[in-house]
Amino acid sequence: MNTKDSFFIGGAWVLAAGRAPIEVVDPATEQPVASVPAGQPEDVDAAVAAARAAFPAWAATPAPDRAALLRATADALEIRTDEVALQISSEMGTPLAFSKAVQVGNPVRVLRSYADLLDRYEFDTQIGNSLVIKEPIGVVGAITPWNYPLHQVVAKVAAALAAGCTVVLKPSEVAPLSAFTLAELFDQVGLPAGVFNLVTGLGPVVGERLAEHPDVDMVSFTGSTAAGKRVMAVAAGTVKKVALELGGKSAFIVLDDADLAKAVKIGVANCFINGGQTCTAWTRMLVPAERYDEVLELVRGAAGKYPVGPPTDEGTRVGPLANATQYQKVIGYIDQAVADGASVVVGGSQPPEGLGTGYYVRPTVLGDVVPGSRVEQEEVFGPVLAVIPYADEDDAVAIANGTPYGLSGGVFGGDQERAVRVGRRMRTGMVDINGGRFNPLAPFGGYKQSGNGRELGEYGLEEFLEVKSLQL
Ligand code: NAD
Repeated sequence: MNTKDSFFIGGAWVLAAGRAPIEVVDPATEQPVASVPAGQPEDVDAAVAAARAAFPAWAATPAPDRAALLRATADALEIRTDEVALQISSEMGTPLAFSKAVQVGNPVRVLRSYADLLDRYEFDTQIGNSLVIKEPIGVVGAITPWNYPLHQVVAKVAAALAAGCTVVLKPSEVAPLSAFTLAELFDQVGLPAGVFNLVTGLGPVVGERLAEHPDVDMVSFTGSTAAGKRVMAVAAGTVKKVALELGGKSAFIVLDDADLAKAVKIGVANCFINGGQTCTAWTRMLVPAERYDEVLELVRGAAGKYPVGPPTDEGTRVGPLANATQYQKVIGYIDQAVADGASVVVGGSQPPEGLGTGYYVRPTVLGDVVPGSRVEQEEVFGPVLAVIPYADEDDAVAIANGTPYGLSGGVFGGDQERAVRVGRRMRTGMVDINGGRFNPLAPFGGYKQSGNGRELGEYGLEEFLEVKSLQL
């Protein structure tokens, strides 16, 4: 049992005396593997004071020096890839190979990308007789979820530190362990005291104190739309900047001239990756009505290539869901969809054979899903794909845009230009055309109730910058 008994505040591990422990449960075994302290509002106050004190010197630190510290952190994290990947798999269940490549690989790449960006980014520009200066916004409160626990943290923290901000992080209470490792790494590479601070705890306690705190200049939140709305409401009292990265119900439009086998393979992979617990997952596959049966046949074959099992088994492509709550929620959505008239093409709500312990759900494909029904509108956050027929291109776009979300999406077709045209009509922050790869430098974020922030690359850096004009 890995017991964490301290917060990281002002460059030191501060004993969280008298704070109740929050258990971290391995979703494959349903057994506790660690505990972290449940922070209280006064712990947030101490961390914010440390971040405030550290801000002037860090903001004035030359960009190349900030870059060097980010690069050193990336190197130090990379060395510990195997250990951190195992840590993440044990707290939220993702397959170990995926954990190494993505859950740790992405944070390493993102830390380096911000170091590189600092080498070329122009903080000062000239517009006519004005000198336009971009300067760090100040103390940032970062609140993150459990599905990509380290990546979501680094997407905020690397950008904020690159900008010259100081940070108080509240990671997810479900998967908080890699945040402790990150604090160790920052300490090891010599990040000045108070620049990065870590307080663990529950959202309504630690998260809300960060959101309301008068000395926090900005809150950067990633998580559910419901919690994001609450953060925005609480933060309104101080008119601080709020950047929200929220849920999604993304659509993958397969056009009538698409290579169906390729499209289905890519679409199914996108939906089932990380056990379907990806905010950008294409959970609705929209297919031409006249090719619907053909697609279902292909989907059956493609979905069969996602064995469910323990994260540490080499053959596993879908691990357990991250926790009991998530498990109950996903099973409930499958049963509800069936009650609403959907058919089960693959999978279903009964547990996979031989996996009695652990929060395992069969990768599930639903047919006969009606646009407007709950499973078509709401984020399930599990390995559940709805295949939906459309009449024509306009109908496909209308269905794709017909939810309160607007995070991501995909278009697949034989004619790239036509696919781009359809992609332009989608009211979402990101669209992959014909399987376009994830780009860690491209702006990442949503429209509508998927949020308002942008992370990664230059757009991610600029979230943490204020703009000032000096008229000369
Ligand atoms: P969640 O909203 O339950 O929790 C996210 C974080 O917010 C946690 O740290 C939690 O403690 C905190 N929190 C909860 N209530 C709060 C409150 N009242 N005030 C302040 N903080 C509060 O989300 P989750 O279950 O951890 O993560 C899954 C959700 O995150 C999904 O909806 C998913 O789509 C979303 N997500 C979005 C993105 C994106 O970039 N758009 C990325 C990953 C995950």
